[in-house]
Amino acid sequence: MAIRTIITEPNKLLRQISKPVNGVGKDEQKLMDDMLETMYDANGIGLAAIQVGVPKRIIVMDISKDETKKEPRYFVNPVIKNKDTEKATYEEGCLSVPNQFAEIDRPCKCEVEYLDYHGEKKLLKADGLLATCIQHEMDHLEGILFIDYLSKLKRSMIIKKLSKKKSTAAVL
Ligand code: ZN
Repeated sequence: MAIRTIITEPNKLLRQISKPVNGVGKDEQKLMDDMLETMYDANGIGLAAIQVGVPKRIIVMDISKDETKKEPRYFVNPVIKNKDTEKATYEEGCLSVPNQFAEIDRPCKCEVEYLDYHGEKKLLKADGLLATCIQHEMDHLEGILFIDYLSKLKRSMIIKKLSKKKSTAAVL
C-alpha cells in the first residue's frame, strides 16, 4: 500500500466526471488499498478515486469511530437506486476542501448498488452518516463538491481562501 497525494480545490481534475471500471481486478484492488491508506492517514471517513487524481468510479469509506476496529467499505461503480424525500443535515467537510465545513441537506436514506472489493454485486440500504457520506462521495464522481450547495458568495470566499493558501505554498 502507498499513500497518494490528495488533490485540493481549486483543481480542474476535481470537476471531471469519473468513468465506470470494467470490473474489479488487481489494479482496482491496489488502487482501493492505496486510497484507504491515504484516507486513514488524512483522518478522513471517505475518499473518491478522483481525489487522488484517478477518474474512476471507485470510493472507499470507513465511518466507524473506533480506531481499533476498522470497518473499511469499498464501492465500485456505485449507483443510487432510491433516495428518501426526507432530508437530513450534517456538517460536512472534505479532504479536497481542507479546513472548511458547512451544514448540507441531503436525502436521509438511500439505496446504493455497487461492486465490492471482490467484484461482487451488492445492494446497501444506508441511513444516517453512512447515507450522507455515500452521497458526498458519489458527488465527487460527477465532479461536484459539497461547497457547490452553498451560496455563490460563500463558495467563492472558500475557493479564494484555498487559492491563497496554495500560492503561499508555491512561493516557499
Ligand atoms: Zn469530499
